[in-house]
Amino acid sequence: MIELKRLSKYYVDHESVTRALDRVDLVFRRGEFVVVTGASGSGKSTLLNVISGLDDYEEGEMLIEGSETSHYSREDFERHRRQNIGFIFQDYNIVDAYTTYENVEAALLFSGADASDRRGRIKRIIERVGLEDQMHQKTSELSGGEKQRVAIARALAKDAPIIIADEPTGNLDKDSGENILSLLKELSEDKLVLLVSHSADIARTHATRHVRLFDGRVIEDRAFSEAGIEKPIRQEHEETLSFSLWVKIALKNLKAMPRRTLFTGLIALGIVVAFSFVYGAYVEQTHAGTTSFHPHFSNPAANRVVVTRDGGAFDETAMESLEAMEGVRAVIPYDTILDERLHILADTRQAFHRTVYFQHAAALESGALDVGRPPEKAEEIIIRGDVRVGETVEVPMSHTSLFVDREVLDALEFEIVGVIEADSVSAVYFHDDFFDTSAARFRALFTHSDMQFALGDITRDFTPRSYVADEDVETGTVHVNAGNLESPGVHETMTLLFQPRGSDAILEESFTISEQFEDEDINAMFKIHPDDLYGLFDDVPSRQAALVVRDGYDAARVMDGLPEEYLAVYPAEYESGTDAMAQVVFSLFLGGVSIGLLGAVYFIAFIALRNAMQSRVKDFIVFRSLGARRKDLYRIISAELLFIMAAALVIVFAGMHLNSMLDGPFPDYIRYYTPLNYLFMVVALLALSLLLSRRFNVRIFSRSVARAFKEAGDET
Ligand code: ADP
Ligand code: MG
Repeated sequence: MIELKRLSKYYVDHESVTRALDRVDLVFRRGEFVVVTGASGSGKSTLLNVISGLDDYEEGEMLIEGSETSHYSREDFERHRRQNIGFIFQDYNIVDAYTTYENVEAALLFSGADASDRRGRIKRIIERVGLEDQMHQKTSELSGGEKQRVAIARALAKDAPIIIADEPTGNLDKDSGENILSLLKELSEDKLVLLVSHSADIARTHATRHVRLFDGRVIEDRAFSEAGIEKPIRQEHEETLSFSLWVKIALKNLKAMPRRTLFTGLIALGIVVAFSFVYGAYVEQTHAGTTSFHPHFSNPAANRVVVTRDGGAFDETAMESLEAMEGVRAVIPYDTILDERLHILADTRQAFHRTVYFQHAAALESGALDVGRPPEKAEEIIIRGDVRVGETVEVPMSHTSLFVDREVLDALEFEIVGVIEADSVSAVYFHDDFFDTSAARFRALFTHSDMQFALGDITRDFTPRSYVADEDVETGTVHVNAGNLESPGVHETMTLLFQPRGSDAILEESFTISEQFEDEDINAMFKIHPDDLYGLFDDVPSRQAALVVRDGYDAARVMDGLPEEYLAVYPAEYESGTDAMAQVVFSLFLGGVSIGLLGAVYFIAFIALRNAMQSRVKDFIVFRSLGARRKDLYRIISAELLFIMAAALVIVFAGMHLNSMLDGPFPDYIRYYTPLNYLFMVVALLALSLLLSRRFNVRIFSRSVARAFKEAGDET
């Protein structure tokens, strides 16, 4: 039983007040078929909206089974609608994207009806309204009369005690209208049917009672027959939708609206891709070697790990086991060559003096070459610069190149087999075998040794400026320019003494003076054959090797995996005070960018998705009219967005892995990802989805259902 007691409802719009219902006193029972008539604007729809809880009221009281509703919350009215009200609207208000079956099913799902035999029950109801042939057709394809029958089937499915029908035949032809009215008549046997109509004829032929409104007041209330049964209206409490149900509804929605799902999916993909780039750069930055300065190593390259061995030199086995380590691309036996700069001489260009270090070709990524191929032997090199494959260049091994303005006498010849295009020569990469040559060993150890030469009883420190390697000199002999030294004389002996740094051994090698020469500029200079020069260090064992790795990330893993006996240093990660500070600032900056990006992404996503959501607002209002709880709708929206976002994440992660495996064109960030990085991305983006869902939910619930329908109607 529904009782209205002196109930009034006002609309305040732009400072004008409309009294839509004016002190209405009415009582309704189940079993009645009430027709409400009245001129347009007399308050018929308002009356029905108040009874169904789609709209609230300002004065008086509405009682449901004797209990007051003036204190009802939104949830209470949602429950009231869910349990008691079946709606039939003039413009149908069914979910167009759903089939007949799905529309009826939705009513059942939201009303939390018993799941047993749901399928059978839906089928029986659809048969009852005569739509068995349209069961699995989208309702957007149905005629008006058929749509209205879907609406009735939906009301039937809920088995609601009150059927609210606001001009249900307004858009229908005469036959369809008749059909709907007789269906409603059947229903009114044990339900309360409240029907708004323009025509008073209906009252005479179908209704048991006629209520006429004028300006919000009841001006006529006439019963034609003794109708009304004493059967209470439900008011019990029930549970919210189960997890499996809202997941089911969400998946159904994604499937029912494939174009919208695709559109939303593309936006989600864009969001995840944009985010993964910034976040990936951030993760990479935390792993990469970032230092360009080191107090002991002039070349703190990110691909260089310096290793020494506890108690001695590297033997063959040690080298092999280092080479076999995962993440180690190559081992350079004499590490210090990496701190040496080299000079290139070619016919076509001037010698250049930029800081270019010796580099191992293994430091290059596959695919880095623009032209040519990797070197295959010691005499082949790759150059980053404005050079051509096939060109020959000379690289002086000794420091005689400091005398470029004079003559370079010990240059080795290399053939350029690979080129990375650049405006000027900025890097030179050598084959693995090169690092095993005497020349390379000489270059690595030469500047790291204490050296002297002895002529007779004079001993002098040996500096790079004091010799020239010259192929004209026969091996085993030297040419000496004694300068201000007392001439030692031809056929006498000159001895060179070396003590490689970090070693106690003193090496000495004697040469016969075969010629003396004069040079005004330089004192005490001698010339020696290059082979003799390079060979001086042949017996010096390797005490400091370099592991060629890909980057700081691999460096850390390699260093972790090194056996105890090794001591490793990663020069690129050297942190001086200012560097550390700069790094913290940079990290904070990138972290801030990540968070800022997340915020920007949120707004862009919101604006992009708003259109997709707008087209669905009506569907959600339909769900609300079915009594769906705000909570349930929030969960459904969230679940939809979460599914889409999760799919986008899976696609992006898979893409990143593929890019990594196939050496794709994008930066390889995924290799740095720890489970924590994956987790962060997943959590950040799923949280973003939840925020967006909440935002949309607030929009959907910001208006009463009645008003929302009105506005949705105005938009179309
Ligand atoms: P009926 O259904 O009989 O045509 P309504 O119940 O829709 O009449 O409207 C009753 C009165 O309340 C009308 O004057 C109408 O303009 C006004 N009204 C209805 N809904 C609103 C609303 N959402 N905002 C402002 N005024 C409204
Ligand atoms: Mg109306």
